[in-house]
Amino acid sequence: MKKSVKRMLADIEREVEYTRSLIGRDRLDRRVMAAMGQVSREVFVPPGLQAFAYDNGPLPIGHGQTISQPYIVALMTDLLQPANDHVVLEVGTGSGYQTAVLAQLVKKVFTVELVRELGEDSATRFRELGYSNIECRIGNGYRGWPEHAPYDGIIVTAAAAQIPQALIDQLKTGGRLVIPVGLPYMPQELMLVEKDDRGEIHTRDILGVAFVPLQEATTAS
Ligand code: SAH
Repeated sequence: MKKSVKRMLADIEREVEYTRSLIGRDRLDRRVMAAMGQVSREVFVPPGLQAFAYDNGPLPIGHGQTISQPYIVALMTDLLQPANDHVVLEVGTGSGYQTAVLAQLVKKVFTVELVRELGEDSATRFRELGYSNIECRIGNGYRGWPEHAPYDGIIVTAAAAQIPQALIDQLKTGGRLVIPVGLPYMPQELMLVEKDDRGEIHTRDILGVAFVPLQEATTAS
């Protein structure tokens, strides 16, 4: 493994330890950390920023959007408790980095991106990297992707003012939704939503985060 990748994994582990009292654990799932080590983040950052690809911070990807911080990607993936027979929905493909990490761990990832150019670039990247278990859609994912529902897990990588009911509806019983909630550019909370075996919803605040806003769906989309 490259030295820079090892450093990124060590940085993630350190930040997990710093935040242990908030996230309720000392370390992340070993499979999740392995996936973080397998996906080359440099492929997902814009040319010119490759030197920073393994720094534990977000980076701009154009269109006012960002590739999330590695620690946050690892944490959100861990919160989803991915299993290799899972079908997962991601809202906000962006660079496709989070998508690729998930694709290492589950059977199928459906991912939706609003900005056409970002969605198309990511789809090309997944093809070139040989991922056969990712299906992309360009469009507004605020109301999920009902055609393939229900999902074992749903991950939203942009902040919603509130949890969209459509996403809760598209969760399987026993499923988990990981979503940052809060107003744009205000303090936001990463939330874990669980639908228990009786279909009841439990929500838990995990930690304060800063995400770009999730665009709400218009009636046309
Ligand atoms: N996981 C991505 C994060 C990208 S930032 C990464 O690490 O690269 C969040 C993305 O969500 C942006 O690309 C933005 O265009 C997209 N987005 C915002 N609102 C959306 C919506 N309603 N539907 C689909 N994508 C949306």
